[in-house]
Amino acid sequence: MATTEEATTTTFSLELTQDQKDVQAWAHGFAADVMRPAAHEWDEREETPWPIIQEAAKIGLYSWESMRDFGIDESGLTMPLVQEELFWGDAGLGMAIMGTGLAAAAIAGQGTWEQIQEWVPQCYGTESELKVAAFCASEPGAGSDVGSIRTSAKYNEADDTWTLNGQKAWATNGGIADVHVVIAQTDPELGSRGHAAFIVPIETKGIEQGAKVKKHGLRASHTADVHLDDCVIPGRNLLGGKDKLDERHARIREGGKGKAQAAMATFEATRPIVGSQALGIARAAYEYALEYAKEREQFGKKIIENQAVAFTLANMKTEIDAARLLVWRASWMARNGHKFENAEGSMSKYKAGEVAVWTTERAIQILGGNGYTREYPVERWHRDSKIYTIFEGTSEMQQIVIARAISGLRIT
Ligand SMILES: Cc1cc2nc3c(=O)[nH]c(=O)nc-3n(C[C@H](O)[C@H](O)[C@H](O)COP(=O)(O)OP(=O)(O)OC[C@H]3O[C@@H](n4cnc5c(N)ncnc54)[C@H](O)[C@@H]3O)c2cc1C
Repeated sequence: MATTEEATTTTFSLELTQDQKDVQAWAHGFAADVMRPAAHEWDEREETPWPIIQEAAKIGLYSWESMRDFGIDESGLTMPLVQEELFWGDAGLGMAIMGTGLAAAAIAGQGTWEQIQEWVPQCYGTESELKVAAFCASEPGAGSDVGSIRTSAKYNEADDTWTLNGQKAWATNGGIADVHVVIAQTDPELGSRGHAAFIVPIETKGIEQGAKVKKHGLRASHTADVHLDDCVIPGRNLLGGKDKLDERHARIREGGKGKAQAAMATFEATRPIVGSQALGIARAAYEYALEYAKEREQFGKKIIENQAVAFTLANMKTEIDAARLLVWRASWMARNGHKFENAEGSMSKYKAGEVAVWTTERAIQILGGNGYTREYPVERWHRDSKIYTIFEGTSEMQQIVIARAISGLRIT
């Protein structure tokens, strides 16, 4: 996220440019033609869908260049537009394609120019040699409470290296990634303000995938624990560099303010994007339920002719559009350097996540027995949607962030 000093004057507009409409249509085409037909299979297989990532790479959708292009649009809307379309296609496959983005965002947000140039391309690899990346903040004892991260990073002055030890939990692409961005404690005395982000390449001795997590939804996306056992990495793999870290520590020790925790800084910037993913799932379920309700007949008429069904669909559409406005506002604010004074990023992710769960559950209801079977996609969308009230800050944590922002009080 840019700082307020860098604020530009790009005005907020709901009218998409022709470029944005073209990118949206392109992403939609991939979602409809490649992702939708493959979604059920990969959900059942619970494996990383390399052939689908390969297809995305082939058309330039999975690459660091396209991520850069989606991200540099001044309105901030191109990235959420693309994400919504892909997750409309399928959330598990969508996360397999977009999960690398969290690690890339951490590098782009906290790394030096040289680190960004060196590592972001390595997160994606090339069409002929695909790679993925992982962002590892959570630990068995540190989920919502990222402040209690225990993974340690110790500096070895003699040879300018860092030694990392600890266990990371639930990392998307954990263990299969070439690049792991690991949040670790550099100075226990400073608590969460002593956290920093490190690049740990997969060839580093001592980094290993732990248990692969079997999940309720997003099953085409790989999630696993990551173990770090005396991992020695070069000093230059500390994102932002040692001088900056030393300055920050000195400032904190003198009683000054440190910047946001390394993990929180990444989450703050990516929340509207995560919200747009939830929107894609919600829209898929709403559209499917609408068509079904117009076809299905009971008691001699279409079920949509009953107010109970029609009003549910009306509410689905209203909620989705309301959530999208919050996502777009936060995306525009983040891109244009407007500070989230009222936790607008959290609002967008909170609302979109809850709307996705509610909408997909209502879609099952509209499809009745069919909705509950694996023959129809809405049960998968419901399973996929649930993670959006949990990861990147649970709904309760988003409410805490919003409540603190609007009250100025330390609500717990
Ligand atoms: C599929 C998947 C992918 C993930 N990918 C990643 C990843 O790539 N990288 C990564 O670092 N992590 C990842 N995570 C971890 C995820 O971010 C955490 O699961 C999430 O932050 C919640 O932490 P927790 O599971 O420990 O829940 P807990 O923090 O234990 O929370 C349990 C419940 O208690 C509530 N709660 C906790 N504290 C409070 C409070 N103060 N007030 C009110 N309610 C509270 C929570 O809201 C929640 O309902 C992933 C998780 C999953 C399931």
